[in-house]
Amino acid sequence: MNEDLIRKIEAAFTARFGSLDGAKLYFAPGRVNLIGEHIDYSGGYVFPCALTIGSYCIAKPRADRKLRFYSINIPKADVIETSLDDLHPLMEKGMWTAYPKGVIWAMAQAGYACTKGLDVVYGGDVPNGSGLSSSASLEVVTAIMLRDLNGFDEAKLNNIELAKIGNVAENRYLGANTGILDQFASAMGRKDSAILLNCGTMEYEYAPISMRGKRIVVTNSNKPHSLVNSQYNTRRAQSDAARDALKKVIPGMVNLCDIDLKTFYEHADVITDKVIFKRAKHAISENQRTIDSLKALKAGDLNRFGDLINEAGESIRYDYEATCEETDLLVDAARIQPGVLCSRQTGGGWGGCTVSIVDDENIKDFMANVQRIYSARSHYHATFYVVDVGNGPEIIKQY
Ligand code: ADP
Ligand code: MG
Repeated sequence: MNEDLIRKIEAAFTARFGSLDGAKLYFAPGRVNLIGEHIDYSGGYVFPCALTIGSYCIAKPRADRKLRFYSINIPKADVIETSLDDLHPLMEKGMWTAYPKGVIWAMAQAGYACTKGLDVVYGGDVPNGSGLSSSASLEVVTAIMLRDLNGFDEAKLNNIELAKIGNVAENRYLGANTGILDQFASAMGRKDSAILLNCGTMEYEYAPISMRGKRIVVTNSNKPHSLVNSQYNTRRAQSDAARDALKKVIPGMVNLCDIDLKTFYEHADVITDKVIFKRAKHAISENQRTIDSLKALKAGDLNRFGDLINEAGESIRYDYEATCEETDLLVDAARIQPGVLCSRQTGGGWGGCTVSIVDDENIKDFMANVQRIYSARSHYHATFYVVDVGNGPEIIKQY
């Protein structure tokens, strides 16, 4: 719990909206994907965990239908005033309030229309746009707040439904073509656990993750990347091409990740294009590594988990070719540091962040050394976030 941040949100609420009496404080976490990259759209598993950093909000219902939003992270936008009757999908490009408004809209679409206006102040300690999913934490914290303040039935509108609503907001209100991974990890996070999730079927399972004196270090290359870019679409098309070729000779196959590596190699001659072959090899092997990660963590074998993460890093780099010079450099620099279990690029790719697991006592030197190597050989400066596996969303208190 970031007490300092909570105090700032409280002060901002009082300054803009008056008394905190009757208001409530909520939290939802950010997330990092540990393994299972670029296979959610091929029917494969992802393996994220929720973090102890996330988004907070203090909200108080109003008697009318007005919505007043403020974020201490975006002070220059000041208070944004709107209403429950002013929700228009795809019309609010560049406005941070499109996230909470999108969630209100998506909830109404799901049959849960909010009737009371709100005064809300947000604040988060997830760096925006760096791949730790501040957007999902913002959506999920809004969703649990709306469920609570409107008295929506928690048995029906459970946290998985809230994740779906957050995703609908992001896809249809904001127009960002993203999968359910981020919102699911935030809404369903559990302390000391990673979550094996099939984004297509929503089948999931928790794995205990005991860090034993190690911590997760996320390193932002600060090389900008855009998910909705041509490379991403090309990879999707290549994965689909591999699937379509294999489906013709493998009865019952629906998704690329339905088959194991052995079956893939037995039939791989139907894929004549070398590049398509590599893309398929990544997807199918990555899915296997993700399932093996669950087994490794269940057996308490953190070293094996580290090896799988490193192998996943090689696969995304050489077979899927979804990395870039900057994240490759960060991974190479990380892996030669003392106390490093593993390191790989995480997230959409072609920039963004790497994830490393590092012995606590080595983290200070790790950051200094990686920064030195990175700044000397790239045009960017890295930013480091030492993060811990955390719980899902919470209602923290009533004022
Ligand atoms: P990521 O999810 O990787 O952090 P995104 O670009 O998907 O990056 O989402 C970042 C956007 O989410 C920000 O630009 C902002 O609009 C919104 N956002 C996230 N957290 C907050 C916050 N605490 N207050 C206001 N807006 C936020
Ligand atoms: Mg996001």
